[in-house]
Amino acid sequence: MDYQSVLERIANDVAPQIGRGRPAEYIPALAAVDRRHFGMAAADIDGRVYGVGDWQRPFSTQSITKVFTLALVLATGGDDLWAHVGREPSGNPFNSLVQLEYENGIPRNPFINAGALVVTDRLQTLTGDASSELLGFLRQESGNPDLAFDPKVAESESAHGDRNAALAHFMASYGNITNPVPTLLDHYFWQCAIEMSCADLALAARFLARHGIRADGSRLLTRSEAKQINAVMLTCGTYDAAGEFAHRVGLPGKSGVGGGIVAVVPGRCTLCVWSPGLDARGNSVAGVAALDRFTTLTGLSVF
Ligand code: GLU
Repeated sequence: MDYQSVLERIANDVAPQIGRGRPAEYIPALAAVDRRHFGMAAADIDGRVYGVGDWQRPFSTQSITKVFTLALVLATGGDDLWAHVGREPSGNPFNSLVQLEYENGIPRNPFINAGALVVTDRLQTLTGDASSELLGFLRQESGNPDLAFDPKVAESESAHGDRNAALAHFMASYGNITNPVPTLLDHYFWQCAIEMSCADLALAARFLARHGIRADGSRLLTRSEAKQINAVMLTCGTYDAAGEFAHRVGLPGKSGVGGGIVAVVPGRCTLCVWSPGLDARGNSVAGVAALDRFTTLTGLSVF
């Protein structure tokens, strides 16, 4: 398939959407980003990468890294994770507390903040340094040794992190967090503050299109675990708009409040799009439109 021509056509088709929506405002460091950026990259399963617009410009990955933390915990600690976090869409905002009390401190899925905190807590227990482990993994899979944390974003997250602190303490009261909450929060905020480009993310996510096989040919996940992550991305990866995303795009996807979205076409390719203007649910307006165009133009969806 001629990915480059498809991406160029998409960039042209979604141009009217670029700049729509608002950048995330609850973290001051993200509110300052120019909403007119747009980039999109596709990586095929052999690692050839194609792109348009700002596809090589680093941006704040935010919740997209939750996919990679989940993969590392499944790879290192196995199925035991699923006793501590569910696999159901929450139907509530990403930082909601309300369901936790009814469900004994077990978050609904690994992609809402409560679930991601549990996953990061487990990675911290398994490795002793969750955020460095994650950064090292992303450098290897993307082939970019220069990937780094943005300390300004991490500090901004921490300074406005009361909700995440509340979630972590609440789950700790049920015994579902084992590390000290301040340590866990540091690793969680650093994880959200990793900067990557669309090209980096499309390359790094390829193990999900390759049924668990890493860039160097070794196996990270079983075929079944890779399927599990793709399934949770499809059902829970785009905040409380996962139904709408599945309807429009029809691919496993994970978005972040930095305006990025990663999507997977199992067996074929990975995609990443970035544009900072978000809709009311927290998904990039131009990003969703671009992925919608991709599956419409190519017919490549999981359905
Ligand atoms: N840093 C964010 C938070 O936990 C992650 C948000 C996101 O991208 O969903 O508040």
